[in-house]
Amino acid sequence: MASKLKNIKTIAQLRECVDGWRNAGDKIVLVPTMGALHEGHLSLVKMAREAGDRTVVSIFVNPAQFAPNEDFGSYPRENAEDLQKLERLGVDLVFMPPREEIYPEDFSTHVEVPGLSEGLCGTSRPHFFGGVATVVAKLLNQCRPDVAIFGEKDFQQLLVIRRMARDLDTGVEILGGPLIREEDGLAMSSRNAYLSPQERKKAPLIHQAIRELAEGLANGGNIARLRETATGRLVQAGFEIDYLEVCNAENLAPLTTLAGEPARVFIAAKLGKTRLIDNMAVPDRTK
Ligand code: AMP
Repeated sequence: MASKLKNIKTIAQLRECVDGWRNAGDKIVLVPTMGALHEGHLSLVKMAREAGDRTVVSIFVNPAQFAPNEDFGSYPRENAEDLQKLERLGVDLVFMPPREEIYPEDFSTHVEVPGLSEGLCGTSRPHFFGGVATVVAKLLNQCRPDVAIFGEKDFQQLLVIRRMARDLDTGVEILGGPLIREEDGLAMSSRNAYLSPQERKKAPLIHQAIRELAEGLANGGNIARLRETATGRLVQAGFEIDYLEVCNAENLAPLTTLAGEPARVFIAAKLGKTRLIDNMAVPDRTK
C-alpha cells in the first residue's frame, strides 16, 4: 500500500505517529541524515525499506558536530528536493526539526564515546563525535526505532554510534550500509558540491590511492612503504593529507603489520577548502 509521506517537525508529533505504528506491530527503521541527499543516502533508505515496515528519515544539520570555523553556515540545504526523493522511495515519515526542538536554550547534556572517538577524524575534529553521539542518542530516544542505519562512508562514526547504542541500552539495532561511489570512484558526499570542476576531476585520486594501498597490503606489501607511496602521490597532486592510516576494522587501533587482523584503510584529505574522507577494507587473501 503506497503511503503518503508525512513531514513532521516536532518530537511530540513524531512520537505520536511512530507509537501508533509500533502499537500496530510494525517494525520501525530510522535513517538519520543531514540532508542534501544523494545516492549514498538513498541506498540506506532502500535498505531501510527492506529491513522493516515503516521508514523514518531525519534531516537535521546538527550544529553540535561543527566547530566554529567549519561549514555549518554553508552546508548544502535542499529540503524541497530531498522531500521529493524520499517520497519517490516510499518513505513514511520525514522528521525535519528546527534547531530549538533539538537544542532548547538550556540544553546541557553531552554524550561522549572515548576510545573509538579518538584518532582518525577525532584528532582533527575533536568536537565531532561527541556532537554526533549526542544527536543520535536523542534521535533514537525521540523515534525509538527497532533499527537505525548508517553508512560505511563514515566508518568511524558507524562504530562510535554502534557502541553508544549498546552502552546506553537503547535496544536499537545499528546496521551499516556499504559506501556508494560515483562512477569514477569518488565517495559520494554532500560536500562534493564544494569542489570546483578542476578539483572534482582530481578528487577520485583519493580512492585510487587507498585502493592501491589496500591491494598492496593484501598482496603482502609493507604498510609504511605503501603509505609513503600513496601520500607522495596525493601530496604531489595537491591534496593536504589529514591522516592516512591502516587500522583494525573493529577497534580502530593503528596497525603497522597486518598479522591476521581485519584491516581497513582510512583517509581524510583536503582539496582546496573541501575536506574529503574515504575508507576501504583490506581484502583478506590468507583464507
Ligand atoms: P550525512 O548526511 O553526511 O550525515 O550522512 C547521513 C548518512 O548517510 C550517514 O550514515 C552517512 O554515513 C551516510 N552516507 C553518506 N554518504 C554515503 C555514501 N557515499 N555511501 C553510503 N552512505 C553514505
